[in-house]
Amino acid sequence: MRVALATRSADKLREIREILAPLPRLEIIGLDDLGIAPSPDEDHIEAFDSFRENALAKARFFAAGTGLITLADDSGLVVPALGGAPGVFSKRFSGRTDLTGPRLDEANNRLLLERLRDVPPERRGAFYVCAAAAAFPDGRVAVALGTTPGRIADAPDGSAGFGYDPLFLVPELGVTLGRVSADVKHRLSHRGRAFRALATRLH
Ligand code: IMP
Repeated sequence: MRVALATRSADKLREIREILAPLPRLEIIGLDDLGIAPSPDEDHIEAFDSFRENALAKARFFAAGTGLITLADDSGLVVPALGGAPGVFSKRFSGRTDLTGPRLDEANNRLLLERLRDVPPERRGAFYVCAAAAAFPDGRVAVALGTTPGRIADAPDGSAGFGYDPLFLVPELGVTLGRVSADVKHRLSHRGRAFRALATRLH
């Protein structure tokens, strides 16, 4: 079964392909491979204040152009001590519109540490959330949510993963997600949990 993945993030495309690799009947095709070039309209899709609604909006928007079952991921980091920030604004937390990729991740991580500077260890709890959505050509949709609890470290550690991973300590691992292999991350990650659940509903 050929399914499209509605993301411009190379990190998400890689992770979702790895997560769904044990299901060889699914062939996951990125927007570039489908010849769908970025358009200015895309900047306005994620206008909602929930991961669920943003994921659905992305899946629906791109399904119109792919003609395939179209998957989307909206995800982020929630820090209760910061009132839930960065939340749905995780990618844009630093406000640095001039940066992309690892340099944007670094700016976000720096701001997160700054905001948590005076917050003691017992209040540095956090969780990742992923909403995995599917839009079917006949108009049906499906969504699955995955979460991973953790804690924000005092300093970045490791360079595996992407985004906030070097700061995201997972108690059951005793290290940040910046220090673990992709397999270990996917087993317990918000994205792994959400996409494995969604995959059971793709028929
Ligand atoms: P989105 O593209 O609007 O869904 O924003 C996702 C943002 O959330 C990313 O740019 C990261 O900042 C953060 N994020 C989501 N998932 C992960 C993850 O698995 N590791 C680290 N950061 C993540």
